Amino acid sequence: IFILGIESSCDDTSAAVIHNGKVLSNVVASQKIHEAYGGVVPELASRAHQQNIVPVVHQALKKANITKAQLSAIAFTRGPGLMGSLLVGTSFAKSLAYGLNIPLIDVNHMQAHILAHFIEETNFKKPPFPFLAMTISGGHTQIVNVEDYFSMTVIGETIDDAVGEAYDKSGKILGLGYPAGPEIDKRAQLGNPKAFTFTKPKVDGLNFSFSGLKTAILYFIQKETKANPNFINENINDICASIQYTIIGILIDKLKKATKATGIKHIAIGGGVSANSGIRKALQDGEQKFGWTTYIPKFEYTTDNAAMIAIVGYLKFLEANFAEQDIMASARLKISF
Ligand code: ATP
Ligand code: FE
Repeated sequence: IFILGIESSCDDTSAAVIHNGKVLSNVVASQKIHEAYGGVVPELASRAHQQNIVPVVHQALKKANITKAQLSAIAFTRGPGLMGSLLVGTSFAKSLAYGLNIPLIDVNHMQAHILAHFIEETNFKKPPFPFLAMTISGGHTQIVNVEDYFSMTVIGETIDDAVGEAYDKSGKILGLGYPAGPEIDKRAQLGNPKAFTFTKPKVDGLNFSFSGLKTAILYFIQKETKANPNFINENINDICASIQYTIIGILIDKLKKATKATGIKHIAIGGGVSANSGIRKALQDGEQKFGWTTYIPKFEYTTDNAAMIAIVGYLKFLEANFAEQDIMASARLKISF
């Protein structure tokens, strides 16, 4: 069974081919145009998707060494995401499936960040049900109780900013490029995580809050640069390490609470921020410290990619769970629907 996956929810145009759960190709065209604006500009994103989608799909088929005629189904991201961006992938997937007369499969982007763990990969184990998934990305921060492939319950989520936003907005304050997550991560590894202390937000239960942290960082930087205009330059690695240490502390605290509340000790992470070296290490340490079994995705399946869309397509294909041609993109699609 060959599934073509198409992802266009935000600023990456991606296409992938999966054969019986194994990735044959996973092509990602990241849009550079947004860097100049310090964030994704929706109108520019949808235009870039329009330009990229045909070549990206061609390349994915070519790399997989198959022709369109061999495809069993087309899977696409229905949501959540930017409406204009979603429309490009959705329309393209619909027309291609219609033209080839093969099934169309709608995929929930946030389910895909979790179900990426079911891609067949040597040296990667799959989590057993039920497991806890922490999805940490540019738009979401959730702890999800995953009872089955398509039965998921959100048991905690952010009440304001997502953790990826906390990274990107902190980076903006520090004058780093967009997205700042990878660079803060790189610098954090060279700095002292205890150089500066930022207070952690107090949020009840399993919910998160990151907007206060961003403000705390802003005030701290304003105060310090007033005293020493060169403060950021002189301390950049320590600042990054301290921010990262604070964020990871928040995430791990909530995971500890979640395992206590549910009794589930199998923990998977997903989403762009799960590429972070610090969170990967903290999670691994949790195996020794808290008796967790942890599942960390292969690097290329953390940030937005179509392989994760195609694997969900494959799982739905096995259940003959197809979409109709009149299905619509949904910017605010929930993980359980
Ligand atoms: P969503 O999945 O919620 O719709 P999205 O698709 O825009 O949002 P992803 O592509 O999953 O988000 O993740 C992008 C985010 O991941 C950005 O905020 C980026 O800064 C962050 N990120 C990527 N790599 C790292 C890293 N190594 N450390 C921290 N953050 C990172
Ligand atoms: Fe994403």
